[in-house]
Amino acid sequence: MDIKSILAHYSAFEEKTLSNRFFKHKDIIRLITRLSLEFNVEQLGISVKGKSINAIKWGKGETKVMLWSQMHGDEATGTMALFDLFNFLQKENEIVNLLNESCELLIIPMVNPDGAEMFTRRNAQQIDINRDFLQTVTPEAKILRQARENFNPHFGFNLHDQTTLWSVDGTLKPATLSYLAPAFDKAVSINDVRKNAMLVIADIYQDLNELLPQQIGLFDDEYEPRAFGDNFQNAGTSTILIEAGGYHNDPEKQKIRQYYFASILSGLASIAQKSYTSQRIEHYLSIPKNTKQIFHILIHNVILNGIDVSVGINYDECPNSDGCSTYKTYSIQDIGDLSFCEAYATYEAKNHTLKGEIAFNKLANFSLVMDSVTLVSFENGNLIE
Ligand SMILES: [Zn+2]
Repeated sequence: MDIKSILAHYSAFEEKTLSNRFFKHKDIIRLITRLSLEFNVEQLGISVKGKSINAIKWGKGETKVMLWSQMHGDEATGTMALFDLFNFLQKENEIVNLLNESCELLIIPMVNPDGAEMFTRRNAQQIDINRDFLQTVTPEAKILRQARENFNPHFGFNLHDQTTLWSVDGTLKPATLSYLAPAFDKAVSINDVRKNAMLVIADIYQDLNELLPQQIGLFDDEYEPRAFGDNFQNAGTSTILIEAGGYHNDPEKQKIRQYYFASILSGLASIAQKSYTSQRIEHYLSIPKNTKQIFHILIHNVILNGIDVSVGINYDECPNSDGCSTYKTYSIQDIGDLSFCEAYATYEAKNHTLKGEIAFNKLANFSLVMDSVTLVSFENGNLIE
């Protein structure tokens, strides 16, 4: 599939009302209500705080594919990409016809609307829905689990965001996207179900690696018995995990979302055309792994206790009480030889004077100054800009 030329027309199907990560349940309900009649909308149930969780069915083909997003309320990229997909599916073109003839899609955007409201990972009971498959004490987990049992899909797309601190092994670039065919057992075995997920990912990777060279990694495949992806894989649905990570100068993930949409479309096309059946598992296994070799901020040539060091600084991002913005708290994460690392922002502190203190694992609370010009400055974990 020529994903490049599709993305060249991205603005024709981009859902422009979702323009940052902080949209809410009411915003997506407005969009769902406007979908054309070929989309069949069903309310599956309600969240802890009474917000509807909806499934949207589309397509008349035999291969069933279930896609769900935002189990973690602060992971909004997959939901934005799904609404781009809804717009795309309402266009006239060959791929849309192919998908319509070959597949039946069941799409559940925003599994965790209460989390999205507060911009938190967890639901209103403070539980991580993606660690609640076995106990199923949250209504959201119950709904998602039941939806898979009822629909019994061949393929599943589990749509998440990952930390911006993952990089791609061997490249020192952010892992803008990561893929994974989750394990279904502790031994990380490969059966036909998981293998099909791997082969579809190999197809997606082939398409996307051209657009995002060296910025796609393989997510950690350790078995998590409480997670949905692992359990859906075990239940016979070939499950594909997509994670949105970091990209330079894209804090609201509007650029990443395009690649995310392209990944979903590429995967759906692979399934519809059955091109994955001629893929090789080695191509999946050759995708470089995620690793942690990037910082949010890296400062080289700081004189600390008489020696020349590099300082790696990362932030934690927390939601403000309005759920519509965040604040960042910076702390010192590494000191020493960081010459093999990269960062979203890098400073060169040669000949600068350190004011304040740099202490490992403590909040950043210092300035670097030369001739009364400040290179970078932090106050109790806040970056002064
Ligand atoms: Zn997640």
